[in-house]
Amino acid sequence: MKIRVNQIPEGGETFVLKVEEKKANRYFSLLKNSDFLALSDLTGNVNVWDQDGMIIVEGNLKVDLRLTCSRCLSYFRYPISHHFRSIYSPFYETCQEEDLELKPYDMDVSIYNGEELDLDNVLYEQVFLGMPAQALCSPECKGLCPSCGANLNEGPCHCEIHSSFSPFDVLKKLKLKG
Ligand SMILES: [Zn+2]
Ligand SMILES: [Zn+2]
Repeated sequence: MKIRVNQIPEGGETFVLKVEEKKANRYFSLLKNSDFLALSDLTGNVNVWDQDGMIIVEGNLKVDLRLTCSRCLSYFRYPISHHFRSIYSPFYETCQEEDLELKPYDMDVSIYNGEELDLDNVLYEQVFLGMPAQALCSPECKGLCPSCGANLNEGPCHCEIHSSFSPFDVLKKLKLKG
């Protein structure tokens, strides 16, 4: 949903947002290295207001994602439900700023074209900000066996018995070599 920035009333305006699952996944599939999917529509309630030319968007985002576990490579469901506050600065204004390089990053400010703000993009941005730093199906995920590739969450594999690795084994070998 796109809104005209000059039509935002003085006290701000509330929007109920929804980006359909299919549309969101079409967008995500165009991005590089996006190994995740939306399993639900992206929904949110936001308040939007103009503060001296800066557009503030505050509200929440809800979506269920399908992520890939970084240890065992299996898919798992990851619900996001978080509150956010984003600041959007018009493009032309930031270009005139001399401290352009510092400002947008320091203040966590995004850029919009000065006339329109696409609230779908606001939600997409929040999907990325809501993702975990490391995708894990569970904090106790045992991962894959480095030699046979078996998923160790499903039980021990056969090579585990033979290669019980301990620091003492390394010491033994070093002693032999010396
Ligand atoms: Zn895992
Ligand atoms: Zn194994």
